[in-house]
Amino acid sequence: MSFELAAQAGVHRIAVPTPFAVGRVNVYLIEDEPLTLVDAGPNSGTSFDELQQGLRGLGHDLEEIELVILTHQHIDHLGLVGLVASHSGADVAAIDAAVPFVERFSDEAQADDDFARDVMLRNGIPEDVVSALQSVSRAFRAWGARADVTRVLHDGDTLELRDRSLQVFHRPGHSPSDTVFLDPERRMLIAADHLLAHISSNPLITRPRDGSTERPKALVTYLESLALTREMDVDLVLPGHGDPITDHRSLIDERFALHRRRAEKLAGLIAERPRSAYELAQSLWGNIAVTQAFLTLSEVLGHTDILIDEGRVEEVEENGVARFTAVA
Ligand SMILES: [Zn+2]
Repeated sequence: MSFELAAQAGVHRIAVPTPFAVGRVNVYLIEDEPLTLVDAGPNSGTSFDELQQGLRGLGHDLEEIELVILTHQHIDHLGLVGLVASHSGADVAAIDAAVPFVERFSDEAQADDDFARDVMLRNGIPEDVVSALQSVSRAFRAWGARADVTRVLHDGDTLELRDRSLQVFHRPGHSPSDTVFLDPERRMLIAADHLLAHISSNPLITRPRDGSTERPKALVTYLESLALTREMDVDLVLPGHGDPITDHRSLIDERFALHRRRAEKLAGLIAERPRSAYELAQSLWGNIAVTQAFLTLSEVLGHTDILIDEGRVEEVEENGVARFTAVA
């Protein structure tokens, strides 16, 4: 399946390179009024060049962009937003939940890393792995940058363009600020990383923004968001990475089944003996690369959250490390 259908509707994909394992990020140009860009790519010279080339290939200059819509706070989508806005004078639209992070990027990213450090240590990841990962994360921060949000969106809003309306829905889980944009007339959904065809979206654990210190249940939130998206009547879903999706319901059902299987697998391991999340991750995936330590931890904690909610597992703290044990 190509992006042809979307292009016929004036929505063009530009695949911008990223330094991350996920590969290129899909930026979308919506040829409408205002001339709109959905996401911008990570903050690097190469990405900026390729974005401009991509726009030129579609007959447009960066300077013509009038509106940039952000799908969520991750730096592979956010990094160039500020630069695009300053070159073009474009408005920047983002969901309310993303605004503090986008406008105070460095401080917020640091606070996220501090929170992640506590979560990792509490869940049994060795100190040296945590420190190594934190320096990787600090280095990656250069691919992000702050931007001013000039148009704050709320769940349920509608963005009116000349030729289309885009309904705005907050679908947190992969990140706290995931937003999807529905064109009901064309039965098309811009979903970014909320739903990807080739990989299941990571329900990344992210610092809560409501001032609480409790760790958010990212996977539980994500599955609730997916259930809402499953109900949408759409023919085409445009993701943040990789190919478009034409049967979102069966893909979402596959994701539900995958998470169910993983939860059951963890339930089995926990039934053998109590383990920390880090030990559970090692049992599932063997030795984990440093860069993957937080992703795999998010994945495991997502599933132990499900088992805890079902009353089958409980979290017991011992010397500052959380262990999961089966409920008798
Ligand atoms: Zn993302």
